[in-house]
Amino acid sequence: MSVDQLSTTNYQLFSDYHTHPQGHRVQRYTPALLQPWADSARKVGLTDIAFTDHDRYHAGIDFDEIDHLRERNPDLRIRAGIELDNDPIHSAAGRKWIEKHWEKLDFVLGSVHFLDRDDQMFDSVPDGAARFEGRNVDAIYADYFRRVREMAATGLVDCLAHLDLIKIHGHRPGAEIEAIANETLDSIRARNLAIELSTAGWRKPVNELYPSGRIIELAMERGIPFTIASDAHSHAQLAENYSRLAQKLAAFGVRHICVFENHQRFVRAVCAEPLL
Ligand SMILES: [Zn+2]
Ligand SMILES: [Zn+2]
Repeated sequence: MSVDQLSTTNYQLFSDYHTHPQGHRVQRYTPALLQPWADSARKVGLTDIAFTDHDRYHAGIDFDEIDHLRERNPDLRIRAGIELDNDPIHSAAGRKWIEKHWEKLDFVLGSVHFLDRDDQMFDSVPDGAARFEGRNVDAIYADYFRRVREMAATGLVDCLAHLDLIKIHGHRPGAEIEAIANETLDSIRARNLAIELSTAGWRKPVNELYPSGRIIELAMERGIPFTIASDAHSHAQLAENYSRLAQKLAAFGVRHICVFENHQRFVRAVCAEPLL
């Protein structure tokens, strides 16, 4: 057995901090909607999950139902969360809702899904790719990361989701990502926020973990902590590609991830292997 294989078998990825029980429409939280997520989590060996539906569907979120789910599934940690994005139309209401319910929320993800057009998410596949045609990719990257910094500065998020989502369709900047992302990572560190390692990129055209290896290294240099996540839009996607994610964590020497309770961050080991 190689050292890398040994490392991977010692990994226990127990959490998933980006999930969408409602999918892409308002669906009121009910036992029928939520229990399958608990069942799936248990089946794939997760013990700590966060529901992070999009803020535009906040009307479906019911904290009492989350409490009932916790009571029925005492072996799981179930976190109440939300994914706040920069939707120019809906997110003002989303921000208000988060402020109002801050005490009941364990975890808020911040995301950038919109660039210069109010009516179109750039990360829809394949339509969003048209936004890049004939345009300067470096300028688009710079604009995207500027918006990520704005999201980090709202004071309403605990963690930034899919930090380099802008690569989703496979467009690469001409400049080194380091030059483009450094300022953003500095502002994330300065605000003591986490970033997520998301397997969702492996099911998109770019076919790569979010964020890229270089960004992971730059984040580690700054001591920025990571959550791990699948961005599941169905309970069947929970922990998707986690064995592949374990390989990445082993390769980068990431031994700890973080979890949240009432916005408080706790660091947990994901690797049982003793330090050499
Ligand atoms: Zn997202
Ligand atoms: Zn999401």
